Amino acid sequence: MSKTAAYPRIMPPTLSSNDYSLDFDELYARMWALAIDDQGDGTRVYKPESQSALKWLIADLAGTPATPGQTWPDNDRIRKQAHTLLQEGGWAERLTQTSFRLLRPPNDDGSSERDTHERYDWPTVEWVKIPVDRATGNPNGTPIRKRHFLDCWHWYRDEDQNLLGDPPRLATDEEMRRLAPCQSCLAEATAANNPSRGPRLSLDLEPSDVEDGPVLTQWRSDGPTDGTAQVAVRHEQRHLRRHLIGSQPESPCGLCGRKLPARELVAAHIVPRHTLNEAERLDFSTAAVLACTLGCDALFERGYIAVDDSGRVVSHRPTKNEALRDAVSAIVGRNVAAHTEASAPRFAQHRALHASADA
Ligand SMILES: [Zn+2]
Ligand SMILES: [Zn+2]
Repeated sequence: MSKTAAYPRIMPPTLSSNDYSLDFDELYARMWALAIDDQGDGTRVYKPESQSALKWLIADLAGTPATPGQTWPDNDRIRKQAHTLLQEGGWAERLTQTSFRLLRPPNDDGSSERDTHERYDWPTVEWVKIPVDRATGNPNGTPIRKRHFLDCWHWYRDEDQNLLGDPPRLATDEEMRRLAPCQSCLAEATAANNPSRGPRLSLDLEPSDVEDGPVLTQWRSDGPTDGTAQVAVRHEQRHLRRHLIGSQPESPCGLCGRKLPARELVAAHIVPRHTLNEAERLDFSTAAVLACTLGCDALFERGYIAVDDSGRVVSHRPTKNEALRDAVSAIVGRNVAAHTEASAPRFAQHRALHASADA
């Protein structure tokens, strides 16, 4: 079922200096998002405030050093490459030292991102572990033969449910190609609608995708304890962030619809994370809804609001508090795009979870 023809790899131009690099398409998409439609002719003017200047976009995307009022060589080299490509590639006309008229919309985010990555069978099944002897916990000398989810039941555990032997690690790209997924993990992946073929998701993302990004609300109560679990959480968090926000600097809250900077949006799990298995956590179309820190996150997490079967925000957990009631009634009736046929059962679970709670 996973035999698919090879996908063409369309590489967007890469700008680089020493070990720093970024995709031009991604940079241009950011510029476009910050630019203003001032003429209504399909072009936009990118006239950045100091903190959204090209220098900072490059620092963010490529990770180069940058400080105010100072020029760093790698950042500067990439900036000059960007200037050249913007003008010679027909993307933009230069207006001043720092501003440009952008002449056309960016390449479609989704497809350019997909095409830049190598594809693997069952990319979410990506953990491997050195096989151990059940009695001693020492390596039993057989090679790694399959890849798994982190919660695969095949791995031996002690009485306290700790895994025996060395902790699992993420498969290398070579192992992703060479090793087949284990049958039971494959069954989980299929049941949770994980992609049968696709890019290695989070290994390609930068740590900054997480650091600046939303905090997953449900981590708080059931946070991971060991190092491997933390890697898994960061990994998942990056996927989820990418899925919900992409590389846009601003996105609408999935509940109230207000457009906010990415850092004011969190990925709120629809049902608590610990109730989901690995495969379900990686089904981003049903795992979370983007909620703002201006209130929607708390209102949803505590069940004051819910989403009904028609996909609309409803008042749910009763409260006598007037301020809470006002906050709820301000968004009741809004259409929630994250409510789909696939995610509807999760929203129903969320309602049930908070059905018996009272103020
Ligand atoms: Zn497995
Ligand atoms: Zn909101």
